[in-house]
Order: sequence, then C-alpha cells, then structure tokens
Amino acid sequence: MAKKFSSDRSANLPRRQWLKYAGASAAAGTIALAARQSSAEAVTPAHGSSDVLDVVIVGAGLAGLTAARDLRQAGCGSFLVLEARNRVGGRTLNYNIDGGYVSEVGGQWIGPGQTAVADLARELDVGTFPTYYKGKTVILGGNGRVEIDLRGTFGTDEAVGARLSKLSREVPSGAPWKSARAGELDKLSVGDWLAGQNIKPEDRMGWNTSVSLSGGSTPAKMGLLHFLSMINSADCEYEQLDSIRHSAQETRFIGGSQILSNKMAEQLGEKVRLSSPVRRISDWDRDVITLHTDRERVRARKVIMAIHPALCHQVQFDPPLPEKRAALQRAWPAHSPARKTAMVYRRPFWRDKGLNGSIFQVNGPIFWAFDNSPPGGEIGVVNAFISTAMVPSDRDAAKRMQMELYAQALGEEALSPVAYHDQDWGRDDPWTITCISAIPPGFWSKHGEALRPPCGNLIWSGTETADIWAGYMDGAVRSGRLGALQALNALRRA
Ligand SMILES: Cc1cc2nc3c(=O)[nH]c(=O)nc-3n(C[C@H](O)[C@H](O)[C@H](O)COP(=O)(O)OP(=O)(O)OC[C@H]3O[C@@H](n4cnc5c(N)ncnc54)[C@H](O)[C@@H]3O)c2cc1C
Repeated sequence: MAKKFSSDRSANLPRRQWLKYAGASAAAGTIALAARQSSAEAVTPAHGSSDVLDVVIVGAGLAGLTAARDLRQAGCGSFLVLEARNRVGGRTLNYNIDGGYVSEVGGQWIGPGQTAVADLARELDVGTFPTYYKGKTVILGGNGRVEIDLRGTFGTDEAVGARLSKLSREVPSGAPWKSARAGELDKLSVGDWLAGQNIKPEDRMGWNTSVSLSGGSTPAKMGLLHFLSMINSADCEYEQLDSIRHSAQETRFIGGSQILSNKMAEQLGEKVRLSSPVRRISDWDRDVITLHTDRERVRARKVIMAIHPALCHQVQFDPPLPEKRAALQRAWPAHSPARKTAMVYRRPFWRDKGLNGSIFQVNGPIFWAFDNSPPGGEIGVVNAFISTAMVPSDRDAAKRMQMELYAQALGEEALSPVAYHDQDWGRDDPWTITCISAIPPGFWSKHGEALRPPCGNLIWSGTETADIWAGYMDGAVRSGRLGALQALNALRRA
C-alpha cells in the first residue's frame, strides 16, 4: 500500500513545514513561494483509491491550474487536479494555424487592472502585445456599409457611460448584493435602465452590442446590479470595460491565451489527470471526501471546485448540499451560447486600405468581427462573435455567409480565406455551457450570499467566485489563488 502522508513520522516534518508557510503566507495575504518544491515532492504519496490526498482540485482551467501551482509553490505535494476534458485551459482554447500561428476561440484579451493574470503571464514567461485597432471600423446595415474611426472604442455614448460609472461606485464588485441600493437596482435589467436615458435610436445598437459583448447577454436579460458590479471591477469606469484602448480588450498573449494553462499543466506533470469528469462527491461534510470519476475514486481532505456554478449543479453531492447553495447552482444561468469563429487569410489585407478589420452589423449575424492576426501581422485573421440563431449550424454554410459579409465590409479579398474555424461553445462539448455569465435581474439579491461560503470541506472557486473581474481570465486566476490559500489554511487549522 502506498505510504500515507500523515502516518509517517519523517513525512510529517515537511508537512508541518509547508503548513507553517501556508500560515505565514495567509498572514501576508499571499502564498509563500519559499518552500522548496523538492522537499515536499520527496514525501508525496503515490495517489490511488486507497490514499488520502490533502487537496483535490476539480477543473483544469485557469482557476484550477493556478490553485495547483500555488499549492506546489507553498510546498504542498499531496494534490491532484481532475479535469473532465482531454485538454487543459477550459474556456480558453487556441486554434492552431499552419505555420505555427494561433488564434483564440475562447477567452483572449486582458486589460488595465487585470493584474493577476498579467502577473501569472510574466511568471510563466508569456509575452503580450496590443490588440490591433488602428484605422476605420466598418458598420454593415442591410446592403449598406459605413466606415467610421472609433479610435479603439465601441462608440457608446460617453454621457450615459459616465452615469453607469457613477452608479457602479455604489456596487461592490465582489458582493453586489451588499450594495445599499441592491434591492432597488436588482429589480431592473440594463435594458430597463437604458430605456430611461434618452438614447438616440441610432445609438441603441451600440449599446446592445457593447452590453452583449461585455456581459454575455442582451441588455434586456442582463441585471443592472450585476452589470454595475462588472463596471466596479473596471475601476468604476465603463469605458475600461467596453473598449479596446485602455480597456479590457486592449492586450493579447503571444502564443494565445491557452498557453498559460498549457505551461502550468506542463509544470504540474502527472498531477493533472485528464478525461476524468467528477460525477459524484460523497462525504463532503466529513474529514475525508470521496470524488467519483468514471474510472476511479479519489479521496481528499479538501476539495477546490474550480468549475462553473452551473456545472457544479451537474455533480451529484452526497449528502445533498445545503439548500441555499444548491439553489444558487440550479438557478445560475446556463446555456448562454457563445459562438466564435476565426477566418484566416494570407495577409491582413484590410490594413492596407486603412481599415482595422473590425465589423459591426446592424440586425445581422455578426455581433463583432475583429482583427485577430498574430503580433507581426504575418498572416491575417478575422475572428468574430456570431449569432447562433442567425448563422446556419452547418459550418460550410456558416463560412460562406461570413466570407460574403466580410467581402462586403473589407473587400473581395475576403472571399479567399486559407482556413476557417467555428467554435460553438454551446454545442461542441458539455463542459463549457456559457462564456461570461449573464446574471439576470433579481439573482444576486436572492442567491448572492451562497456564492462563496465553503460547504464542509468543499471550497468554491472558478472565475465566477472572484472578488474582482469575475467572469474573466483575471478573475479565474484570482479565484485559484484564493482557493489554494483557503485549502492551505483549512489544512493548517485541522
Ligand atoms: C468565447 C469566449 C470568450 C471569452 N472572452 C474573454 C476575454 O476576452 N477575456 C477574458 O478575460 N475572459 C474571456 N472569457 C472568459 C474566460 O475564458 C473565463 O473566465 C476563464 O477562462 C474561466 O476560467 P475558469 O478556470 O474559472 O473556468 P473554466 O475555464 O470553465 O475551467 C473549468 C474546467 O473545469 C472542467 N470541468 C467542468 N466540470 C467538471 C467536472 N465535473 N469534473 C472535472 N472537470 C470539470 C472544465 O472542463 C474546464 O476545463 C471568454 C470565454 C469564452 C467562452
């Protein structure tokens, strides 16, 4: 039988050491980096159904892998990451293009204030480069087209944006339900609020697009309280959320955003177990929890659930979770589909014409198409968020439709792409059911309090639980760091 961590005297010394590091780092508000990996690794038991691990992390997205990385850096070697898919990265996904280039079909941009993910990239030696936006954006409407220089913005009305920014100061990003005005603000959708702002009819589309892109849903379905909490994350500046320049869409990763997860997984080696969906979790209220995958049972003292709340709802908990937490998971909006495509050309030909590759369409299938070429512009890539309802589900037909629209916007060259990728997150696999969660009116007032408190030895993590930039890659990294810290502290107390 494999050696048990806590029953071996020599093994106890390094265990106490890393628990001490964990305590010290908790006091400092950060994970200790000083513990020597090698000493902890020397006492790591081989995992198997008969071993009790200190921590199991469910999910190998940015949150889960960051948590695992922090555990290891704090000197904890007794952990495992269980991932449902046969790849890491979760909602980040690189599309590999011939010639060694990549374009992302999941999360991709970061911006000011997103320091956690930027720090992680620096630690992993992943470089960044600015999103390309120089030149004119094309607006398509029916058969017509207009070129306009938006200077790195989405063109929404500044005065209305300033009113949203001001309101957001009253709504804490990490706990919108605690706002003194929560009751009043949570009754409204963003659409309700915008309807009272005297917005000119020609500006309505800009707001529709902007809210849908930042929040994952149309203004009519998006809760005002939630949207304000997102703006609060962005330093209470609406433009820092919805533009490119000085905003959340400003910066990209060299090698594509999934490179962060790929690099972390490479460093973690066999600690990450792929194709291991956790179907059932039993005894979460006892000292030792059992996780059941399709192939095995894994036992642990603490479990970090680094997955989307709606996916937590698909796990069977035994005993059942407290009703408040279960209700939050049941009610969390799922199936908010995101479909993102990449059309590849030999060159970013639109740049020669003074265009930036951005296309918005009035009442059409393209929400936003944009230049997603590699840093040097050696090849041209137009990525797009498209409407699942308005674009054929057949991928060849979808490609044809998009090529024609791009030709109308950018020129005939758009009819000769060299490659195409269509990622329909709602359809392609069951492990990403939504992009950025569009939280409806009333949700936070009813369920907010159940978001973070651990249940027994279960720690809730994943971007949705983050204090700031929840829903974003930055929030995922923050939540992973906090999850690791919570686990280490709980183990130390135990
Ligand atoms: C189309 C799209 C565009 C986006 N654009 C941006 C952007 O530009 N900028 C930005 O910051 N963010 C963006 N996001 C959001 C960003 O990608 C996510 O916030 C972030 O990647 C979430 O990380 P996570 O680790 O919290 O969750 P996930 O990435 O969802 O990781 C969770 C992991 O858990 C696994 N899992 C689920 N259930 C189980 C189970 N039962 N057992 C085992 N494993 C399980 C999943 O397979 C997944 O790998 C976008 C997302 C999408 C889909």
